[in-house]
Amino acid sequence: MARIIRVFDTTLRDGEQAPGCSMNVQEKIDVAKKLEQLGVDVIEAGFPISSPGDLESVKTIAGIIKGSSVAGLCRSLEKDIDAAREALEHAAAPPRIHIFLATSPIHMEWKLKMKPDEVLEQAVSAVTYAKKFCSDIEYSAEDASRSDRDFLCKVFAAVIKAGATTVNIPDTTGYAMPAEFGDLVKYVACHTPGIEKAVISCHVHNDLGLAVANSLSAIGGGAGQVECTINGIGERAGNASLEEIVMALRVRNMFWDADTKVDTTQIYNVSRLVTQVTGVKVQPNKAIVGENAFAHEAGVHQHGVLANRATYEIMTPESIGIPQNRMVLGKHSGRHAFDERLKELGFSLEQAALDGIFAQFKVLADKKKVVSDRDIEALAMGVSASIPETWTLDTWFVNSVSGLSSTSTVKLRHKDGTTRKETEVGDGPIEAAFKAIDRITRKPVRLELYELGAITGGKTAQGETMVKIERDGKRWNGRGVSTDIIESSIKAYVAAINAMEA
Ligand code: MN
Repeated sequence: MARIIRVFDTTLRDGEQAPGCSMNVQEKIDVAKKLEQLGVDVIEAGFPISSPGDLESVKTIAGIIKGSSVAGLCRSLEKDIDAAREALEHAAAPPRIHIFLATSPIHMEWKLKMKPDEVLEQAVSAVTYAKKFCSDIEYSAEDASRSDRDFLCKVFAAVIKAGATTVNIPDTTGYAMPAEFGDLVKYVACHTPGIEKAVISCHVHNDLGLAVANSLSAIGGGAGQVECTINGIGERAGNASLEEIVMALRVRNMFWDADTKVDTTQIYNVSRLVTQVTGVKVQPNKAIVGENAFAHEAGVHQHGVLANRATYEIMTPESIGIPQNRMVLGKHSGRHAFDERLKELGFSLEQAALDGIFAQFKVLADKKKVVSDRDIEALAMGVSASIPETWTLDTWFVNSVSGLSSTSTVKLRHKDGTTRKETEVGDGPIEAAFKAIDRITRKPVRLELYELGAITGGKTAQGETMVKIERDGKRWNGRGVSTDIIESSIKAYVAAINAMEA
């Protein structure tokens, strides 16, 4: 029988702390639902005391998610725990309170300005307090990998006695080496009185590119839970990547048959959704979910793969849910084939949304001979973000000549049925169009990120634009897809504004 390792996903908390990765409540709900479908054990949905918005999103997610436990993060302070309690009190599944307090000399002396005995006492009193209203308590010894091992064991023994059911060993700074980190976990497992009453967890950062290696080594050392994020997003160089850990365990059968309950065929889908809502793309050579992860370029490799895929593939793209082009869809394809393909790609959409995408598909098929799965996916993602449309694009016009300013006229339709049209001048067509939109909405925003890419190769590829806008310190993402890059840019900008208005 496999040894089941719990997956604690922190995409919505640590992942969201990554530069440029902020998500709004609706986006967090969409991601949480996908994580539940993926089969993760715990979803860390936020840090409730950090802002009213964070508290609200933890509360909303906890109310919806039934298949995974939802966790809220707290410092070891009563007011933090009270905020987490408020966020989790109506949770649909038994929730978790996650408390952290650093144990390393450098953190205790410089950040906390506390003596080791005081840290021990505060950790115990926080766990004792939280245990009064939540049975599932995780305690994290922040910067554990740079802590004194015996002090770490002493703190863990004390918090387990106070009711902690998971004790987490974070490599907060990404400093550990795999053998050393596995050994630390083993040391904790062997030298902590009462450890059999708790699950040992690891939480590793990727500053030296070793987050996944260290997490696997921790599992080898006895950890029963891994903390990770989709696409490895997170503070600085990121967290351990969920998809890499899960697939390493699935492909290699290591550490006494360790495995997770994750449905790996959902991985690609969740990865794409996180890319979409954060606007942060994964590098092409990223393991498991990168664009090139299953591309075979060299002739000798292609020859081998055609003869037998196992020659150069240790896992199949199907196993992580990468859509395969089996049937070509084009302008003659019918509604049934189209709906079937969407289902295969992992989208379950309402009838109205299906009608909308099918109409867009027909328009696209007129422009492109062959519509690829990636194209369809791009169309479906545009509507599945489920953000109400305050504004929709009616028409646009740009005039661009080399050496001169560009002019753009944009006409948007408001949900109240009225239309507004404005003209602006800019350094380029995109700037002119965005300025015209700002004039229409009368809510100028700051453009923080603008990224343009092609979904598939070739001259008829669809352009995909990601934008991030900022207003009063809050941020929203938008994504637009079109065979025309100016149109995809305008759509992305309008989508971000709609997210702001939602
Ligand atoms: Mn972290």
